Amino acid sequence: AKARGKNRYCLFTSDLSERIVFLRQLENNLRQAVGNREFTVFFQPKIDPVNGTMTGAEALVRWRKEDGTIVNPADFIPLAEETGLIIPLGEQVLEQACHMLTILERLGRPELSIAVNLSPLQFVQNNLVERILAMLDRHGIAHDRLELEITETAMMTNLAKTVDTLNQLAGAGIAIAVDDFGTGYSSLSYLKRFPIRTLKIDRSFIRDLTRDPSDDQLVETIILMAHNLGIHVVAEGVESAEQLEWLKQRRCEQIQGYVCSRPLPHEAFLAFIERSVPV
Ligand code: C2E
Ligand code: CA
Ligand code: CA
Ligand code: CA
Repeated sequence: AKARGKNRYCLFTSDLSERIVFLRQLENNLRQAVGNREFTVFFQPKIDPVNGTMTGAEALVRWRKEDGTIVNPADFIPLAEETGLIIPLGEQVLEQACHMLTILERLGRPELSIAVNLSPLQFVQNNLVERILAMLDRHGIAHDRLELEITETAMMTNLAKTVDTLNQLAGAGIAIAVDDFGTGYSSLSYLKRFPIRTLKIDRSFIRDLTRDPSDDQLVETIILMAHNLGIHVVAEGVESAEQLEWLKQRRCEQIQGYVCSRPLPHEAFLAFIERSVPV
């Protein structure tokens, strides 16, 4: 038993050092990729379930490597966050979102908004508000066409600063959405203290909707609570027509999920928009 224990320990250390080498390599690659602007943004449509029209889209970053392979954010956002690379990376995402907003306006669709994810580190960046407003103004974009998705956890780390930052952003007309709502273990009192326009109900509550009565009740309660507070609701990860119909009946304002569309690269997103001309 002792020998086996020792063996296991050796295996563990070699795994660990391999992992460190791997992470250092990944960090170098990521740093280069930021420099080479290898990141591209996919757009996932958000739909109004009542009339089926598109209301906007969420910008979701992808790493397009030199060999053409696409890497999903789960495989690099955590390290980008840890190394601070999320700041220049996030800036590139915001730039691409602004660029898309100008295209939408040129296409005669200025009613469409784009939501961008803000990582916790970006959110506490000192000059965040100035930088975002400067970027919007440089592109000539009305502030209310940009929405920022921020997780509860990011909002809770420094309450005084959060109130200040959110008030500045909302005061400038930018819409604030709480992302992954319901997963943050936080008190709900912030919902009346922060200038929040939208709650995004996390996919984990939507997954078994219409199949698990306790999820049905939970989601129904979240929608009622949000509406009582004058907050809009987005359901994310909606995959079935039954779920869509259920959410429509409960006046959920927006639907996002594979039932409407997967996240789409630039050209495919523009094609989707052409097919979704409002009636
Ligand atoms: P998120 O903000 O919760 O984004 C929603 C995720 O759910 C996306 O994964 C999307 O592709 C996926 N999704 C949408 N509809 C469905 C569905 O019907 N079924 C299923 N199974 N999945 C669905 P994605 O694009 O891989 O992004 C994962 C996470 O990475 C995001 O979660 C967000 O936290 C982060 N992320 C993505 N882009 C950015 C970014 O530009 N900046 C930052 N800081 N984080 C980002
Ligand atoms: Ca999001
Ligand atoms: Ca989310
Ligand atoms: Ca999520």
